Amino acid sequence: MDNTTDKKCRKEYKKKYRELNKEKITEYNKKRYHENKEINKEKIAEYNERYKEKKAEYQKIKAECDNCKSVVCRHLLKRHKESKKCMDYNKEKIIIDKKEKVECDNCKSVVLCVGLEQHKKTKKCMNYWLTCLLEDYRDQKTI
Ligand SMILES: [Zn+2]
Ligand SMILES: [Zn+2]
Repeated sequence: MDNTTDKKCRKEYKKKYRELNKEKITEYNKKRYHENKEINKEKIAEYNERYKEKKAEYQKIKAECDNCKSVVCRHLLKRHKESKKCMDYNKEKIIIDKKEKVECDNCKSVVLCVGLEQHKKTKKCMNYWLTCLLEDYRDQKTI
């Protein structure tokens, strides 16, 4: 008997064995399945319990939003940043920044904060500065 026929024979034998013991095998498999199911159930429950604890711990961690300074749960931070509240805060802040006015340290004109740099390059501001210098110069001369 060569190898292939041997294999074939064994295959045939297995097939026959399975046919003859069909019920036994099904029974055995069923039993094993149920046993495993019980074990798996326990394992899954244990795993879920641990997962829940970890999740609860993780969810307790708070973080500050760098946009609006709200304190939110860290796992919700990403969602928070996409929220209307946070986005509106940013928009409002930009509007306020744009509306904010400052006094020019050269000419004491009150200008928009965002326009200050540009204002300092205007003739009005530069002339004022020059006039002041001239006045100072003149004052010093008279003294
Ligand atoms: Zn925010
Ligand atoms: Zn000025």
